[in-house]
Amino acid sequence: MPTAHELDAADPLAAFRDRFVTDGDVVAYLDGNSLGRLPVATRERLADFVQREWGRDLIRGWERWVDLPSQVGDEIGRLVGSAPGQVVVADSTSVCLFKLLHVGAGLRADRDEVVVEEHAFPTDRYLVDAVAATRGWTVRVVPHVSDLPDVLGERTAVVVLSQVDYRTGELHDLGATTRSVHAVGAITLWDLCHSVGVLPIDLDGAGADLAVGCTYKYLNGGPGAPAFLHVAGQHLADAEQPVRGWWSTPDLFAMTDAYRPAQDARRMLSGTPPVAGMLAVQEGVRLVAEAGVEAIRAKSVALTTRAIDLLDSAGLEVVAPREAARRGSQVSVRHPRAREVTAALVARGVVPDFRPPDLVRIGLSPLTMSFDELDTGIALLVEVVRALD
Ligand SMILES: *Cc1c(COP(=O)(O)O)cnc(C)c1O
Repeated sequence: MPTAHELDAADPLAAFRDRFVTDGDVVAYLDGNSLGRLPVATRERLADFVQREWGRDLIRGWERWVDLPSQVGDEIGRLVGSAPGQVVVADSTSVCLFKLLHVGAGLRADRDEVVVEEHAFPTDRYLVDAVAATRGWTVRVVPHVSDLPDVLGERTAVVVLSQVDYRTGELHDLGATTRSVHAVGAITLWDLCHSVGVLPIDLDGAGADLAVGCTYKYLNGGPGAPAFLHVAGQHLADAEQPVRGWWSTPDLFAMTDAYRPAQDARRMLSGTPPVAGMLAVQEGVRLVAEAGVEAIRAKSVALTTRAIDLLDSAGLEVVAPREAARRGSQVSVRHPRAREVTAALVARGVVPDFRPPDLVRIGLSPLTMSFDELDTGIALLVEVVRALD
């Protein structure tokens, strides 16, 4: 096995680490998939926004800020293979999911079933149940994506799936799955929270109908940064969302009495969006675009492969697909005292994530992580587990 030092020296993305703030007391940040690090450019951009744009431009700033939801949306669109006009930055992932579930219900008004994974991220499950209750849907829960054929049929309206499973790190085949959902005439709603910014995604190529994603994970947009959503062009004209405020109209300053929705994805907006949050998202997205998603994916595979090798040789129980092509950018360790393991690590400056009941999740964010940081984190993890066993 090459040393971490050798791998860092040969890493084409190594210089990106210096574009992030890393001067805290954290010795190994294994949680960049939950809250990405702060880009140096974002710190400067937000300071400038507060002092110059907000402080001096005052309301005149809206001439520029008004287009941020679709401008930053289009920049995210380029990362996920979605043509301009189909993506906006808005709300939180949860609220975007709520809106798109309703859009899906409207697009398949003659059908009455929604499909969701049993262990989907909790907010996804809750919102599916909530929207199902108001739209008269029956919820069909599948243990795993591979069980979809058991439930898909002519009653299926919408299928909600995460591209990468937040617990196991399993990467699903977005193209093939979308095709199988389309084969029964249903709509796909993809949750890209754990895949956007860390692997190549081609929504248009796959014909993906609807999608949502986070910006504070691998896109490094900051705590509470607004989410994004995608509506495929062919559905836009019929996309009816439930919170159709003035920002969903073609020209909000026209102040018309009669409601008319915008023709592009801005029709999914509701009210005044968070400008500081969108500027931070823009900086994070630009860093990912500059590095290139292909290069990020290559480093991600190298990081997760090394993590698995190190954990295997230490005799820990690894939870992650063994095949790199089926793996996102995280690896988990199963341990009956996972909560204590995580707490002991945090006390030593190593920050992973505890996922109940028994997983220590190690998220590997390629732009901000070095191989040296990975080795440091795993060595301390192994030490802490040995001390507890
Ligand atoms: C992180 C995450 C969310 C977060 O939703 P918020 O509305 O931003 O709190 C939703 N779904 C998945 C799959 C996630 O990983």
